[in-house]
Amino acid sequence: MEKSIIRLSKSCIGPAEKQAVQRILDQEYLGMGPEVQKFEAELSVFFNRPAVCVVNGTAALHLSLQACGLGRGDEVLVSSLTYIASFQAISATGATPIACDIHAEDYLIDLNDAERRITTRTKAIMPVHYTGGVGNLDAVYDFAVKHSLRVIEDAAHAFGTIYKNKRVGGFGDIACFSFDGIKNISSGEGGCIVTEDVDILQKVRDARLLGVEKDTENRFSRERSWEFDVKAQGWRYHMSDIMAAIGREQLKRFSAFSEKRQKIAAAYDRIFQDHPIIMPLDRDYNTVVPHIYVVRIIGMENRSDIQKQLLDIGIQVGYHYQPNHQLSYYQSKKLWDFPITEGVHRELLTLPLHFDLTIDDVKTIAFELKRICRDINVDK
Ligand SMILES: *Cc1c(COP(=O)(O)O)cnc(C)c1O
Repeated sequence: MEKSIIRLSKSCIGPAEKQAVQRILDQEYLGMGPEVQKFEAELSVFFNRPAVCVVNGTAALHLSLQACGLGRGDEVLVSSLTYIASFQAISATGATPIACDIHAEDYLIDLNDAERRITTRTKAIMPVHYTGGVGNLDAVYDFAVKHSLRVIEDAAHAFGTIYKNKRVGGFGDIACFSFDGIKNISSGEGGCIVTEDVDILQKVRDARLLGVEKDTENRFSRERSWEFDVKAQGWRYHMSDIMAAIGREQLKRFSAFSEKRQKIAAAYDRIFQDHPIIMPLDRDYNTVVPHIYVVRIIGMENRSDIQKQLLDIGIQVGYHYQPNHQLSYYQSKKLWDFPITEGVHRELLTLPLHFDLTIDDVKTIAFELKRICRDINVDK
């Protein structure tokens, strides 16, 4: 038998999701249809705003940026410490992602640094809600107003997070979520765009179906458009009914999912609170629904060793993220310092966090990590 390991992250699929998929398969209509329409309606209730479902979170970002009119010659401010999807979605439009440094306190975009990188070509800012926290999101919106920028929130980590008594996505300009296999809720793969802007909504609805005007309405009644016009570049980015069926069941389980994630993160926090070198991120888990649990280990130089040592005893850990400004494709010509990002990224370690993890697992993981940290720091 395969040795069981504590996984870094995983999907959590129960009988309800399996039955829902079976129901769709039995109908033999698998594409975008009434199930997607229902999932969108339920998400709109969740966010208290319209939601448009697409094939993944990257597509949600790409379509949102395109709908804002971004293209060649335009620039988008984004923190370097993010998943490559944020950068690829920007460059997919032809625009240039401008990597920014992060705040030392919350690891979110540093607006002072971002301001220094503004040019006449800057058209938008993409705050990335790293781990699920949003920091001072009002300040991001003030900054955007001051510089006349669109705001496309990469909220892939922040499904369910509350900011000032509202759900992320339920206010602001445009927010994009991911429902990939390991996110706070999953539809297998998938994502959505949440906004109140009717022009953006119409554009992303059309663009997800190859730009075919008003095809969405036809698909929802299992029809399709035979004669139509196309006025803009589109993509094959719609969500399928199979995915929506999974997503709908996962959305029903959201409060159980979020409570468990918050409980696990808070338990880690309590264990590490007085530790000399293991530093949890400053997040309030009464409002933040964490997608990942990240610690900074001061002075850590051998992450891959630690990763291997933990895996040898059955604990899988990870690293989020290698800074994007270091990648060949995105290295900026006017590259200047990223002091905080460069200072912290080597010391980041992501610990297991998913619905099936127990508090006993958390204790074991924390115990083993502390033991290893003691060993590596004996003569420091
Ligand atoms: C998951 C993720 C995305 C993209 O979502 P996919 O559904 O995987 O395409 C974008 N940004 C961040 C920060 C993510 O973690």
